[in-house]
Amino acid sequence: MVKIFIDPGHGGMDSGAVGNGLYEKNVTLQIARRINEILLNEYSGVTTRLSRTGDQTVSLSQRTNAANAWGADFYLSVHINSGGGTGYEDFIYPGSGTPTTTYQTNIHQEVMKLVDFVDRGRKQANFHVLRVSNMPALLTENGFIDSSSDAAKLKQTDFIDRIARGHVNGLVRSFNLQKKLSGGGAYRLKTGTFANETHQRIAAERLRSFSGWIVHEVSDNGLRLLTGSFRTRAHAEIAKRRVVNEFGWVVHIVEDN
Ligand SMILES: [Zn+2]
Repeated sequence: MVKIFIDPGHGGMDSGAVGNGLYEKNVTLQIARRINEILLNEYSGVTTRLSRTGDQTVSLSQRTNAANAWGADFYLSVHINSGGGTGYEDFIYPGSGTPTTTYQTNIHQEVMKLVDFVDRGRKQANFHVLRVSNMPALLTENGFIDSSSDAAKLKQTDFIDRIARGHVNGLVRSFNLQKKLSGGGAYRLKTGTFANETHQRIAAERLRSFSGWIVHEVSDNGLRLLTGSFRTRAHAEIAKRRVVNEFGWVVHIVEDN
């Protein structure tokens, strides 16, 4: 399990920067929650913790203590800039080597692909959360709250979503996270074996067009198909009956862990 500590900047009594009707603490929480949601819904092998999940006051030491005690693999701090500029930049602790520099490059590039912010570059700064965290750490500054054009973007849910997805795509590249099969359900279908890879491939194509599910061709004590993602065993049973009726294969329900 890759452990990602997500730190929405500020909160509670500390509103962070304020401008154009926005509070930094609220925007950072929106972005952080969305990063968390995408990671947990769409990727396997990853677990997360947030420094705060609501509008609480949390000190910088409390944040880094929580990440260090948990033994996070990565510390991701999300902020909004202010002070008369525009665009996106991110920071690592001065003099950090790999893999921190690689993670910064990955996240920087992936965020810039999805948002139309000015690119202010990859930077270094002696910030508490970068200095005191025991693991590779990055602090992102996602636009300027006192820029009317940046703030207008930050007011759009779709734009927040793209910022979050950029961060996630950078984490995916950094930690080689794998997509869940689909939907995030716990139950899947596994077919009986096929005689050879050609039969397996043809069967996979038939099952895809029949069901619309993502179908994986797996080798597991014989050539099989692994597919579907169902929240309950009852849903999996219904799907299994449809597949058996249509194709006459042996189908097992398997449970994800
Ligand atoms: Zn901040």
